Amino acid sequence: MRDPTQLYAQPPFKEQKQPWPGLARDMEPRPDHGEDSYQGSNRLAGRKALITGGDSGIGRAAAIAYAREGADVAINYLPDEEPDAQAVVELIRQAGRKAVALPGDIRDEGFCRRLIDQAVEQLGGLDILVNNAARQQSHASILDISNEQFDWTLKTNLYAMFWITKAAVPHMPPGSAIINTSSVTTYDPPVNLLDYSMTKAGIVNFSKGLAKQLIEKGVRVNAVAPGPFWTPLQVAGGQTMENLKTFGKDTPMGRPGQPAEIAPLYVQLASTEASYVTGQVFGASGGNGQP
Ligand code: NAD
Ligand code: MG
Repeated sequence: MRDPTQLYAQPPFKEQKQPWPGLARDMEPRPDHGEDSYQGSNRLAGRKALITGGDSGIGRAAAIAYAREGADVAINYLPDEEPDAQAVVELIRQAGRKAVALPGDIRDEGFCRRLIDQAVEQLGGLDILVNNAARQQSHASILDISNEQFDWTLKTNLYAMFWITKAAVPHMPPGSAIINTSSVTTYDPPVNLLDYSMTKAGIVNFSKGLAKQLIEKGVRVNAVAPGPFWTPLQVAGGQTMENLKTFGKDTPMGRPGQPAEIAPLYVQLASTEASYVTGQVFGASGGNGQP
């Protein structure tokens, strides 16, 4: 038993800025993805999972947990993130599971189709899809968001999710699960994340609608809506420096979450134990937030 308010790093945080997309390796303090703590109990034995953005942050925490629960895991990430990705590949292998590394930019529809083809081929099938990759850049005003930035955010967060899911569905047998990462910003959009927040709201809507379609195939679809988590997204342009220094302080918990603290939700939603759970949104926001 431990008091959750006393776990992990507390604000204030050191000023830090990395070029996008950022590496977990270079954050101070280093995020906790469950490397030294997550213990599996065979809840996903024999399952085959693809996680986008599986190199760092919330996606890495899900990848570690899935592997330790007995799943083979493919991760997608950007080529610049190879050092983070290799660390995850190593952790999946240490768990005794197959690791598949599939770098590439999901803003490209052709790549999204190849990503699914390669994941299916190398895993020998696909029954868990986690759409988790995202673009988040802080802009004070709508006037500062160029069409190029707007397009970048929507391509990454919405188009890619649509393309990847569309390619994946024909391969997914009954019992499969799709989990999309939304955000607390769906319900309370911050002043500086206009384009990002609208995509995160779209992800909730997409998840609920798709759940109604895919249950006919025996496939469940849910979304996770995290609050503030200590990940590269936040130090690579995702926050103002002021927000970063006090990151998570405005939650009742008084600190940000660490990726390890949200991985159990991704396990639960993928597991057959949650067989009646579909079309739902699960939050982890340190006491704020809705779904
Ligand atoms: P992260 O930076 O560790 O993960 C995001 C990943 O997205 C990157 O690792 C990168 O691999 C991937 N990505 C971005 N653009 C890509 C592209 N064009 N092609 C391929 N991959 C691309 O940060 P995170 O916070 O763990 O983010 C994971 C998810 O959690 C995102 O959907 C994010 O919106 C969501 N989220 C995060 C927070 C938070 O506070 N950290 C809060 C709410 C929601
Ligand atoms: Mg990353």
